[in-house]
Parts: sequence; C-alpha cells; structure tokens
Amino acid sequence: MEKIKMTTPIVEMDGDEMTRVIWKMIKDELLLPYIDLKTEYYDLGLPYRDETNDQVTIDSANATLKYGVAVKCATITPNAARVKEYNLKEMWKSPNATIRAILDGTVFRAPLLVDGVEPYDRAWKKPITIARHAYGDIYKASEMQIPGPGKVELVYTAEDGTEKRVLVHDFKGAGIVQGMHNLDSSIENFARTCFEYALSTKQDLWFGAKDTISKTYDHHFKDIFADLYEKEYKGKFQALGIEYFYTLIDDAVARVIRSEGGFIWACKNYDGDVMSDMLATAFGSLSMMTSVLVSPTGAYEYEAAHGTVQRHYYKHLAGEETSTNSIATIFAWTGALKKRGEMDGLKELTAFGEKLEQAVYNTIASGRMTKDLALITTKEDVTTLNTEGFILAVKEELEKLLR
Ligand code: NAP
Ligand code: MG
Repeated sequence: MEKIKMTTPIVEMDGDEMTRVIWKMIKDELLLPYIDLKTEYYDLGLPYRDETNDQVTIDSANATLKYGVAVKCATITPNAARVKEYNLKEMWKSPNATIRAILDGTVFRAPLLVDGVEPYDRAWKKPITIARHAYGDIYKASEMQIPGPGKVELVYTAEDGTEKRVLVHDFKGAGIVQGMHNLDSSIENFARTCFEYALSTKQDLWFGAKDTISKTYDHHFKDIFADLYEKEYKGKFQALGIEYFYTLIDDAVARVIRSEGGFIWACKNYDGDVMSDMLATAFGSLSMMTSVLVSPTGAYEYEAAHGTVQRHYYKHLAGEETSTNSIATIFAWTGALKKRGEMDGLKELTAFGEKLEQAVYNTIASGRMTKDLALITTKEDVTTLNTEGFILAVKEELEKLLR
C-alpha cells in the first residue's frame, strides 16, 4: 500500500512520562507505516521546556495559529516536587494555560463511548460534550477576609476619573468578600467558538447560567450569546436542523441527567470545572475523555484529557509491566488527522482517521482492553493487555480495515 500524502503539517507537541512513551508507540505502530506524516515537531517535554525557558511552548502555540491543527501529548505542570525532580530553573507555568492564553480558545471535552463500558446514567446513549469557558470569574478573583464591622463597596474609576460605586455589604461582624470579573471580548469568543463547534459537529448547543439571581453578571453572558446567535448563527443552525437554547443552570443539570446525550453543554468557568469531572466519571473512565481547544479564529488543538500517568511511568522505568490506556491519545491523533484532511481536502487522510477510530472500537468489542477498562467492563471473557499489547491489537484491527 502506498502511504497517504499530506500537504500541510500538523503541529506536534510531544510531552512527558508514560504518555510520551505511548506517543512514540502510536506513531511507530499506527501512523508512520501508513501515512507520509508531515508534522512540525515541538518538544514540550519538561526538560526541553526548561532548556528553552518555556519558549518552545509559546512557539508551538503560535505554530498552531499558523497551521490551524495541533496534537498535544500530556505534559507535566510543574509544582515544587517537579522543580526538585527535574532540577528546574523555574516553576514553569502549565503548558495548557500558556497555549490557551495564546489561542484564546474554548476547551471542548467529550467522553468516548465503547462497547461494554456503560455510563452510570442509563438514559445516556450518546456522548455529552462540555464546553468550558476558560477565562475569569473565580479563577481570577480578588478576595479579602473582613475582620469586623465596616462597609465593603465595589468602585470603578474611569480613565477620566469619574467613579461608579455599589455597596457589597455593610458588615456588622467578621466575614469574607470576593470580587470577580469577566470581559466582553472573552465571553464573545467563548460564545463564537461554541456556535462554530456546534456547526462543525452538527450538535445542539445548550447554555446554562444563573441570570435570575445574577441579574447583571450572568445575564450579560446570556445576552452576549443571544445577540451573537441572532446576528450570525440562527440561519446556519436552522439550515442544519440544530438548536441553540439557553436555560437556567439548575434546569440544565436536571435536563442533562434525563437526556440521551448527543449535544454540547456550554458552561461558565466554574460550572465547567465541576461538571466535566462529574461527566467524565459518570461516563465511566477518566482515561476515555477527549479534549480539543478551539480558537475563535478556527485553530484546533487536540489532546487527551488525562495527565502523564506518572504512577505507571515509574513502574515502566522500574522495568515492570504497565497497562496504560492509549485510547484518548490515539483519538487526539485521529481528531487532528481528520481535521487536517477536512481543511486540506484530503479525503484519504480523513478516512484513515475514521478507520483508526473504528479499529479501536473493534478492539474493545473483541474483548481486548487495558486494565482500567477490564476492571469496569460489563463484558465477559475479557483479555487484559499491556500498554504495547493493546496498541498492537489496534494495529491488527486497523490492518483488517485497510485491506
Ligand atoms: P493522571 O496522569 O491523569 O493520572 C491519574 C490516575 O488516573 C493514574 O494514576 C491512573 O490510575 C489513572 N489514569 C489516567 N490516565 C490513564 C490512562 N490513560 N490509562 C490508565 N489509567 C489512567 O493524573 P496525575 O497522576 O494526577 O498527574 C500526572 C501529571 O500529569 C502531573 O504532573 C500533572 O501536572 C499532569 N497533567 C497534565 C495534563 C495535561 O497535559 N493535559 C492534565 C492533567 C494532569 P491508577 O494509578 O489507579 O492506574
Ligand atoms: Mg477540575
């Protein structure tokens, strides 16, 4: 078979620990034998981030804006222990935060549903995609402890010196206070990426906030979504037969539980933080969560939602056998290949991505899986494979589909 040709490179962001090991296996076994793989390689492994003073992360994000499609391996976010372990010059920022700041995007997370791994919620038949706004609110808040009686106000001072004030509370005793903000530009980008993602995946879009209580703050989110929808997206949604609707966050939660799935749920920053962990768990497994960051300019960065699986890596280094699930990382690659194929009009590349995904589903359907899934599956007669064994089983299924 001749290898599939590519025209534009995919930005490849390599990473750390067990996922770096898996990354190489996926490339060697599942991609390079079949595709004339064109990537622009950035090593986001912690040693090279440290060597370049994290410039490599910034460069990789800019390359993503340039080429439009990236695939990222999980990376270590340094903490004090990592600074010591890797003898770092500095406690570098989270690569995901750096990339998100440059792409100014929204993160969409969706679980992969496979044969034999049942969601805890029996109504769910299709994945639910969470779109989390990734800027502001309590994540950029200022807080204060109030020691005793006194007045707290919000004060806005315009550039010309004029002031606007609002009373937060007239304290009679001790308490706490918090000031948070968001930006019209960021909310509008959030809304735009959600509408675009709904169009590109042909799914309904739900948005929930608490505008009945937060009549200025949350209401502003609701208005920005509604205005943009009316102005630019209503016609496009109707043409595809998909729907946008707003509802109170508590009503959204109740509807999500009763739904069949198959839609996008846009959440404010905190709601998205909480609800994405709830959904990942309720759908079965953290190792089966995919993630894509979409910029308002239409650049896509695909990755697995899980981390570098440090515990497995130390076993691997000690020469012990591991059974690490590579599915979310494989789907990061197929997401990027399919998007590259779609953007460049390369039908063969898109079809290859689809076949590789099908090969993963077929492998699970045949009862072959890694330990994390073997522990929760409802299937009987399961074969538990090690890290490499699973990738080779997928390769075997892929070869059948390519024949
Ligand atoms: P983690 O890598 O997600 O792993 C936590 C645990 O979840 C593992 O120990 C394992 O459980 C299970 N698990 C996760 N992914 C799995 C997979 N693919 N196959 C099988 N089991 C899987 O989280 P962490 O150990 O807290 O974090 C490790 C490093 O990842 C940290 O340095 C953190 O900064 C980084 N991180 C990066 C990203 C990212 O780049 N997007 C996201 C999160 C964390 P068992 O040990 O019970 O088998
Ligand atoms: Mg969280």
